[in-house]
Amino acid sequence: MTEANPTPERRAGLSTRCVHAGDVRDPQGAIHTPLYGHSTFAFDSTADLLDVVEGRSEGNLYTRYGLNPTIRSVEHKLADLEDAEAALAFGSGMAAEAATFLSHIKTGEHIVCLGDVYGGTFELLGENLPQLGIDTTFLTASEVDQIPSVLTDRTRIVFFETPTNPTLDVFDIAAMSQQAHAVGALVVVDNTFATPVNQNPLHHGADLVIHSATKYLGGHSDLTAGACGR
Ligand SMILES: *Cc1c(COP(=O)(O)O)cnc(C)c1O
Repeated sequence: MTEANPTPERRAGLSTRCVHAGDVRDPQGAIHTPLYGHSTFAFDSTADLLDVVEGRSEGNLYTRYGLNPTIRSVEHKLADLEDAEAALAFGSGMAAEAATFLSHIKTGEHIVCLGDVYGGTFELLGENLPQLGIDTTFLTASEVDQIPSVLTDRTRIVFFETPTNPTLDVFDIAAMSQQAHAVGALVVVDNTFATPVNQNPLHHGADLVIHSATKYLGGHSDLTAGACGR
């Protein structure tokens, strides 16, 4: 298994990492990481089970927790490609976004959303989260100079896609991060359109990076998946 952040001189090139980062050495010798479709995994002893349940060792337990070798492998690969400390995989990009927002923001707090966003994201921020008392201020790409006037002490997240879907507006991640961090807000960048091949938002000051892996990461319109890295 590849470390998430090996020292630069030991680091393989991007195309090698796209193929091999996160590889799991299969005990049967399969040349690629096998697809483990199982919900639950067996243990040799109750002590081994408790070590995993209580967090003393990394192991396979129950797939919804991500404690499944196939999921762990893709999380290590995506963390490596985004130069993230860790990544979590989800069943869709919207699942990744919903989990990210719900785990970082609570009733009474505020989100700022810049530019065009994917339709599902617009609905989540504009219709679903307000039902929980979480409100979002939307600024168009030409209004970004108004950020200082919309950031408040309730703002927890500044969210944007760059480039945006579908209008391909581009935002300066470093400049946006500087302004958001000044009020203690997290910067969450949806990097679906750029992919980690072209841009690593965490290098420019973003706190979290999200992907709809359904798009370019999957690449063949044959799966839905999402990810969040930090
Ligand atoms: C498609 C898309 C999403 C939503 O992803 P799903 O995998 O369809 O849930 C989120 N953000 C962007 C930029 C997208 O293009």
